[in-house]
Formats: sequence, structure tokens, C-alpha cells
Amino acid sequence: MTARILVVDDIPANVKLLEARLLAEYFEVLTANDGQTALDICRAGQVDLVLLDIMMPGMDGFEVCERLKADKSTMHIPVVMVTSLDQPSDRVTGLRAGADDFLTKPANDQQLMARVKSLVRLKTLTDELRMRALTAQDIGIDHLLGIDAAKAEKGKALLVDGRRNSQDRIRQILRKHADLNVMNDPQAALFDAAENNYELIVISTNLENYDPLRLCSQLRSLERTRFVPVLLISEPGEEGIVNRALELGVNDYIVRPIEPNELIARCNTQFKRKRYNDHLRLSVQHSIELAVTDPLTGLYNRRYLDTHMQLLIQRSLARSRNLSVLAIDLDRFKRVNDTFGHDAGDQVLCEFSRRIRLAIRGIDLACRHGGEEFIIVLPDTDASTAEVIAERLRIEIADQPFQLDQSKQELLITASVGVSSLSGPDETPSALLKRADKALYEAKSRGRNRVVAIAA
Ligand code: GH3
Ligand code: MG
Ligand code: MG
Repeated sequence: MTARILVVDDIPANVKLLEARLLAEYFEVLTANDGQTALDICRAGQVDLVLLDIMMPGMDGFEVCERLKADKSTMHIPVVMVTSLDQPSDRVTGLRAGADDFLTKPANDQQLMARVKSLVRLKTLTDELRMRALTAQDIGIDHLLGIDAAKAEKGKALLVDGRRNSQDRIRQILRKHADLNVMNDPQAALFDAAENNYELIVISTNLENYDPLRLCSQLRSLERTRFVPVLLISEPGEEGIVNRALELGVNDYIVRPIEPNELIARCNTQFKRKRYNDHLRLSVQHSIELAVTDPLTGLYNRRYLDTHMQLLIQRSLARSRNLSVLAIDLDRFKRVNDTFGHDAGDQVLCEFSRRIRLAIRGIDLACRHGGEEFIIVLPDTDASTAEVIAERLRIEIADQPFQLDQSKQELLITASVGVSSLSGPDETPSALLKRADKALYEAKSRGRNRVVAIAA
């Protein structure tokens, strides 16, 4: 993992110390000795994380954090407050200022790296989302980034804890921030986690007769829980367990006694991470759909046909199966536009596509090839069967009048269809399409509203 980390502290020795540790982990390090310099560096861009000292002359860390979070160009950069003493009041002020996490000075290496890595991962996701949001501009950026979602909604979490009083305390701390399901049986918890969409699983090391690491590893290996963030609550002196948990893929940890604001901040970071992840996955799906479908009719577009038809043909040839293609074109469609307007024409195209979808099988590939020309690829279908299907489709179009929304008008629409089929081992998509087009042209010239097949 490589990232640019800005270390801000007024005492040069503190900066040097953190810098050396981060450099040892191959992070890129920038430094600042005062708040204003830190703000300038962040605004210039390319900072992935800020480690921010609180006590600084002039502008203190709280104010720097507030300003970073108020500025659209820097609000997405995670900020870790470095508190010199374990001052609960500092943490509350830090949270209010928008800090994403806390570290206590002097920070131990393992803690420092676990926090830094967790937040850098989160930042990477946010960056990806911001980029995608810019590309897919029809989706609201804020919605995609889930910034408000992370604040507004309670997270859905599972707590696995072996002791009653500890359960009660954690429930109390998180009551405003999470819908918490509490369990003490680790095996039951594993099943529960697989069946529910938790945004976070909190595991205490205090489980009775059960190795908490085993639960962590099971959660990481189950398909359905692999991506759910896990936060470990350990006892003092359990560094060995924490280390191995982090190796197993546990996302963060906290050591008892639990400082309420710290637990809240860490849970919120994980909720955010989970939500960014989910948004990201959805937006990937969405952009794939956008890239391969025609927005008006919802059928596949030409680009998809060009790549996918190649595959379908190769597969048919490899298995010595048939494959046929229908080229369909609406008859005298220009007249529909000229008489009823372009919107009416669009409605006809949508209804036409709906009828195509109803007439074909799941394995058939229907696509809008051009304005009012459609292609259907029919795997496992020989020429004579394809002709029957084409004729059935032609009747579906011609026999049922098309209804227009606004005018309540009914239109009689017809279409012509050209059919071609796989000819031999050297068949190419373009040759197959060309023959279907030729057959279509023939159907048009023979008077339209008919099916013509061209022998291979
Ligand atoms: P033919 O029977 O020979 O196919 O006659 P036609 O009028 O259907 O063919 P022509 O190619 O002359 O005209 C096609 C028309 O389809 C012209 C164009 O404006 C219209 N068209 C293409 N794409 C769209 C679209 O997305 N929406 C609408 N409403 N019309 C479209
Ligand atoms: Mg200081
Ligand atoms: Mg036409």
C-alpha cells in the first residue's frame, strides 16, 4: 500500500519520529510545522491522510481539522488527531471538529500502522468513488460518496461478547450510533453474521471457551461475511492476539478499558468504509450497465453485440451447434415520426422492444443496432426454426396495434425481418450480419411486413 501522509507537529523531533516510522513502511511522507502550512499542502492536493498534532501555537489542531472538513476540496482526506495525553475531552472536541481517528502519543508502531492502513484503505475507496462519480454524471455525487449516509443512519452491527456487564456497557455507548445485535455464543454468531447484512462485527476477546481468533478467521473465510468489517476489543497485554487478528484481516481494534468516544469513532470509520464499498460495487455494476445497454429501450447496444457475438459464434462452432441471426427493421417508421412526432416514435420503439423481449428466450441476445434496426442472435437455432421465430415475431408486431400514451391513438406498425444462419467453421460476425441485412433488404423490396431467409 502506498500513500502520501502529511505529518503536522510544531515540534520537529515529533515529526522526525513519525516520519521515520512511516518511511520504514514505504509511505510517502510530507511534513508541516504549523496549521497554515498544513492547510496549504492539503489544498494543493494529493494528500491521503493527515496525522495532526493538537497543541500547536497559532492555529491548533482542532481548528486545522475543522477547516479541512469545511472545505470541499479537502473534506474527504482522513484526519488522525494525535493527542499527547489520553484526554477524553480532547477526543470529544476532535470528534466535533470532524476527526476520523485518534492516536495517543507516544504511539506504538503496531497501533500507528493499523490505524494508518485502515484509513488509507478507506481513502482509496473514496477516491475511486469520486472518480466514478465524475464519470457517471447522471448519478448524484453526494449520493455516491455516501458522506451524509455515513452520518445520518445508524450502522447495523453485531457484538460478540462473553460477559454480560461488558455487553451492557458497549450497548450503552453505541446506542445512538448503531443498531446492535448482541450474542455470546460464537458459533451462533457466525451463522447469524452469514444470514444478516451487518455493516460491522465487534468481537471481544473475552469469549468463554472459544478462541476469538478462530471466529475472526471463520468470518474472513466465509463467502458471505468476507467483506464485513471486524473490530476487535482486546484486554491490556494481548498484543500477540491483536497482531494475529490484524494478520487475519481484522480491520481495527481497541484496548480495554473502553474509551466511549474512541469506540464510537472507530465504529463510524468502519461503517463508512462498508458503505463506500457497497456504493462502489453498485456504481461499478451501474457503469457496466450504462456501457452496454441502450438507454431508450433497455436492450443491449451495438458495442455489446460486437464483442459478445464473436463469443457466441466461437462457442457454437466449438460445439458444432447452430446459430441464427435476425435483422429487424420497422417499416415506414419515418412516417410515424413525421405524423405523430419524435416522442411518439420513441414510444413505438420501446413497445417494439418489449415485444421482442417477450418473444425470445433467455439465452437469445437482443440488441438495438441502430435507430430503428434491431438484431437478435439465436444460439442453438437452425435456419428453419429461426424463420418460424421470425414469423411469430412479425405477427406479434403486425396484429396488435401500438397504443400511444398521450393521444390514445392506435397505430398499426409492421416490421421486416432478414434471417441468416451459421455457414461453416470460418464464419465471422460481420459476414453473418451482412447476410441477415441482405435478407432484410430483400424483405423490404418484396413489399415489407415479411420474413426472408438467406441460405448460407
Ligand atoms: P423502411 O420501411 O424502408 O425501413 O422505411 P423507414 O421510414 O423505416 O426507414 P428510414 O431509414 O427512411 O427512416 C428511419 C427513421 O427512423 C428515420 C429516423 O428519424 C427514425 N429514427 C431513428 N432513430 C430514432 C429514434 O431513436 N427515435 C425516433 N423517434 N425515431 C428514430
Ligand atoms: Mg504541539
Ligand atoms: Mg425502417
